Amino acid sequence: MPLIVQKFGGSSVANPEKILRAARRAIRAQQEGNQVVMVVSAMGDTTDDLLELAAKITDRPPAREMDMLLSTGEQVSVALMAIAIHSLGHKALSLTGAQIGVKTDASYRKARIKSIETTRLRKSLDDGNIVIAAGFQGIDDDFNITTLGRGGSDTTAVALAAVLRADACEIYTDVDGVYTTDPRVVPEARRVGRIGYDEMLELASLGAGVMHSRSIEFGKKFDVPIHVRSSFTDQLGTMIVAEPERPDLPVSGAAITKDEARITVQGVIDRPGTSLEIFSRIAAKNISVDMIVQNIGQSGRADISFTVPQNELDTALEAVREAAKVVSAEGVTSDANVAKISVVGLGMAKQTGVAEKMFRSLADAGINIQMITTSEIKISVLVSRERAPEALRIVHHAFQLDTSPHAPREEPKARGESHAARENSRGDLAAAVVTRLQSMNMEELTIDDISLDSSQARVTISGVPDKPGIAAKVFEDVAAAGIFVDMIVQSHPSAAGAATLSFTVPQNQLSKSVEAARRIAQSLGCQQVTSSPIISKLSVSGVGLRTHVGVAIRMFKALSDAGVNVEMINTSEVRVNVVVDGAAGEKGLAQLQSAFADVLR
Ligand code: ASP
Ligand code: MG
Repeated sequence: MPLIVQKFGGSSVANPEKILRAARRAIRAQQEGNQVVMVVSAMGDTTDDLLELAAKITDRPPAREMDMLLSTGEQVSVALMAIAIHSLGHKALSLTGAQIGVKTDASYRKARIKSIETTRLRKSLDDGNIVIAAGFQGIDDDFNITTLGRGGSDTTAVALAAVLRADACEIYTDVDGVYTTDPRVVPEARRVGRIGYDEMLELASLGAGVMHSRSIEFGKKFDVPIHVRSSFTDQLGTMIVAEPERPDLPVSGAAITKDEARITVQGVIDRPGTSLEIFSRIAAKNISVDMIVQNIGQSGRADISFTVPQNELDTALEAVREAAKVVSAEGVTSDANVAKISVVGLGMAKQTGVAEKMFRSLADAGINIQMITTSEIKISVLVSRERAPEALRIVHHAFQLDTSPHAPREEPKARGESHAARENSRGDLAAAVVTRLQSMNMEELTIDDISLDSSQARVTISGVPDKPGIAAKVFEDVAAAGIFVDMIVQSHPSAAGAATLSFTVPQNQLSKSVEAARRIAQSLGCQQVTSSPIISKLSVSGVGLRTHVGVAIRMFKALSDAGVNVEMINTSEVRVNVVVDGAAGEKGLAQLQSAFADVLR
């Protein structure tokens, strides 16, 4: 019999009427011939209320007792849901995390799932029950109650769907799916029919708050198709699966991360260990860093710029000022009024022209780009916060995200139909997944690949004027010369008001690229063009790179220990790339392989 997991978020079980509505939905699914597992969150704002209650007693409650407290929210919901289903004349059984056997590590407030028992669940389902599982909670080896972090019920649902090999995992929420961007900022935003796991991970980390990031990592790792949909209608929502709606289109979504701040460490001596010194101090304060850009230093000194969440700027600055002393930097500057605009799409990995389209649209509106970073499936630019909403709208329009894809939209498959096909064609895959499940902690960091690409060269234009339109001009001219650009980084302008713009190209296009860069530099009045004929791009890719904050630090440490200097960095949810000197590639690779040996699959 097909099995489905239906998860109802706090807003979908906020009162008795909504609980009954969710109950009816589950009953209907069961009557359609499915076994049904429901996962429910705490009602409405219960979790916030519980947090507030504890805060009225002390601002330093023991973490263990907070988990004891917070887990009660979900316990109320499962019981009421079971009562609701009984009242409608059907069989239901509610279970806490402990009763199911959701085993986690012992890190209260942010526990990670290690394993899930399925025996009791299966038995209750086979007895004809709708099983109602409490989201967000588990127990550690000593039977202490743990919780998975805010929003953790999504992760419970996807994890249950994975271990039960469910045919569908439906996430019922108060929005009707995933949008091309935040509809509150861009009213023309459109609901997408299907989006890739990697795209969703990027968008979630950029603040598209539809789902808990860890639940998507789970979905990807265990190949669970996730259907995000409204609990108030029957309309199909968005499928989160391996491949997006239109894999041929470069961009699937755009995001604004409004409350960012920029920090620049000026004039650091460009040698191994500098990044490590800075970023390990910030990581120690549990602050996540993005858009790390190091301009290629002249006279042995470089500026390192990056962004942090605005509300963590002060704490980050404390850490950075200490690091700045150690690396004898010339100064530290910051800007609390910036925002990040990003476009994300699996399709951009296979296409050219994507970056310049984004830069051109901003240039035409006279919006200045303060920094640029790119990864395989994401381009991010830093702009002033004031112009950020406008920038988002412009970029969204430039990639025609506001119009439906031309090909007929493929609707998510109705559940059930796909069951047999899934059983057959995916038998091998399922077996592999089950083996994986048994041999590992479910949420452990896994690295799929560590690779070295020595086929590229780097071109750097320095003294790039700090005004709108420059990046657009540069990359249009580069594209017109038929050059294929991979990584792009633009540093924050130096104290003197000029930035460095670096990009990587295939080695056999280097001379052509340098020529083009010289022409551009001359016409724009830039200082100079430098290049490096062979660079080595080292990449670590896997699942959980963001939620396991230590990955970039581990890379920096390994490279610094081997005396390898990092020239360029870019990070995404699924991959961290660093560019090092061409001669250091093999050494760096070996170093990374041993540094990640414990988590390399
Ligand atoms: N009740 C928890 C929270 O509000 C878990 C969840 O809703 O997913 O964070
Ligand atoms: Mg909640």
